[in-house]
Amino acid sequence: MAVPKRKTTPSRRGMRRSHDSLTPAAFHECPNCGELKRPHNLCQACGHYNGREIVAVGL
Ligand SMILES: [Zn+2]
Repeated sequence: MAVPKRKTTPSRRGMRRSHDSLTPAAFHECPNCGELKRPHNLCQACGHYNGREIVAVGL
């Protein structure tokens, strides 16, 4: 079985984990209805994208 030759130091471990942090999901206000939506995504509340209604939202 392959085994690491040397113990990973706390410094090396920290360097490896420097990219592990999670980033919070981005949200912006929908220009049409003001609801929070993901950027570059269809608004889930009103179905608008780029100033037009793409998907009809049933009431
Ligand atoms: Zn909207």
